[in-house]
Amino acid sequence: MNTETIIFSNKDITVTFAPKICIHAEKCAKELSEVFRTNVIPWINLDGTKTERIIKQIKRCPSSALKYFNHTNDKAFQNKAT
Ligand code: SF4
Repeated sequence: MNTETIIFSNKDITVTFAPKICIHAEKCAKELSEVFRTNVIPWINLDGTKTERIIKQIKRCPSSALKYFNHTNDKAFQNKAT
């Protein structure tokens, strides 16, 4: 299994996934399967739904393995609500 951080982008945000710290709770895949896909490569499809919904799901990641950077107004990657 690849342990390097993987990066995905759409026009609004860049999302990083860190396999080393993912606790594999599958919260993301269970709650937003059209974006976080367990059996498809690439497993994150940022065109699967609206960006706002993806951000909401990333904030629910219990390990912070998922983080996002908003292209328009953020200066750093985020996971939890600020
Ligand atoms: S919600 Fe976070 S910890 Fe859970 S499987 Fe997805 S990336 Fe891993």
